[in-house]
Amino acid sequence: MNPFYNPMFLGKILKRYIIDIDRLNRINEESLRRYQDRQFRRLMRFADTVPLYHEKYMQVGVNPTSMTSIDDLQRLPFVTKDDIKRHYPLGIVSSKIKKTSLIKVSTSGTTGKILPLYVDLLDIVMGLFAYMRTLHEYDMSVWKDKITIIGDFAPHTAESGYVTRGLQPHFNLTRMFKNIQWLNTNDEPNKVMAAIDEFQPDFIGGYVGMLGHLALLKDSGLGDNISPRYIAATGSVLDSFLKSFVEKAFHAKVFEVYGATESGLIGFQCEKGRYHLMSDLVYAEFLRNGEPVHSGEAGEMIITKFHGKGTPIIRYNAINDIVAPFKGTCSCGKAGALIKKIYGRNDLALYLPNGTVLLPSAFSEIYSKLLYQLRTNKVKNTKIIQRDLYNLEIQVVIDEALRAIGPSVEEIFSFIKNGFEAKTGPDVTVIVTEVDAVDTSQGPRILSMVDKEKYTIARYL
Ligand SMILES: [Zn+2]
Repeated sequence: MNPFYNPMFLGKILKRYIIDIDRLNRINEESLRRYQDRQFRRLMRFADTVPLYHEKYMQVGVNPTSMTSIDDLQRLPFVTKDDIKRHYPLGIVSSKIKKTSLIKVSTSGTTGKILPLYVDLLDIVMGLFAYMRTLHEYDMSVWKDKITIIGDFAPHTAESGYVTRGLQPHFNLTRMFKNIQWLNTNDEPNKVMAAIDEFQPDFIGGYVGMLGHLALLKDSGLGDNISPRYIAATGSVLDSFLKSFVEKAFHAKVFEVYGATESGLIGFQCEKGRYHLMSDLVYAEFLRNGEPVHSGEAGEMIITKFHGKGTPIIRYNAINDIVAPFKGTCSCGKAGALIKKIYGRNDLALYLPNGTVLLPSAFSEIYSKLLYQLRTNKVKNTKIIQRDLYNLEIQVVIDEALRAIGPSVEEIFSFIKNGFEAKTGPDVTVIVTEVDAVDTSQGPRILSMVDKEKYTIARYL
């Protein structure tokens, strides 16, 4: 039976919707803590029915069903991408759950490593609710406001799994959510712009790259009818320059939403501008050399997801984001953990001779400055290759259709070169070359060949 036609299941969703959506506003730290403990115990019992976790915990001699509080999490080993790959497909799902009730999704292919895993319908609904929560924060709702979501609807992605294969066959999405427009971030910015102009949304949610392109189009006089109140940016680091460029172009407030395929939504910026974790849905640890970092210090994020009956995510160490936690409170009064800064993916990092690690947050602004300072989007693609500590090659693909328009290619290249040199310092030689295409099949757009095993990290930038 399709679980969405099952009244018990629908009742469960409804209850979750009402209870969950504003939970962090309603409860205090102490009851959040008790809630986390309960969720964790439930998760542990469930994990014990999943071969990957059952075997892993047996090997290290921990009994998951004996865990009582979230503090016990630290006794568990990390789960890696390799663990999931090795146990795929049957070993990453519970023996108690029917495979036909699960939907396969995979992590984005932008880093060249695609990881397949399973989610269930409740996961999908919770993902939608988590997004609704961020809308609620800004006094918007999917029922009264017009919402444009520019998702990654390539066939393998989580969004496709959620919307096309998960929700759509069960609900008639377009009928149920008349106020939501679904657009694809893989389409041409001009096409996306035209669709938004026709829909005239109050809210636009999209990836940082696409939002940058749209802002430039808006700034150049397109999209007369587009005047959203809010824009949510997701997917990668949004530097402050690009943020204010998008805000100015659309006369709208931009806030950030942070998530990953494996975990669902992780956090969001509240009205006061602070970054909150969805501490009732996920639990994050921030470690450096295996030890928790202090407030404000950058560490590797380890994530545990509480909900869902698909592939459990428990102490998963491969979101690969470097994040600084923040110990303190926010004047908005929400319960749960806070983060100070998201630096970006550490598998997309560059390593400097002096021990400084440049993370995406540091060099993404070089590219966003092309948009808002040089006002050009003729850089169609780029690849950053670090052959050794002292040499950096930036490959650039120029959009032929735009070659003769705006600033010259030479001007753009020297802009990129100067931008990187300002970050790397004089010890690193930066060369910028034009190529017809960049090879992203062999790995990500940022490739560092520096031996990380022999490299000592002094600081993140
Ligand atoms: Zn807040």
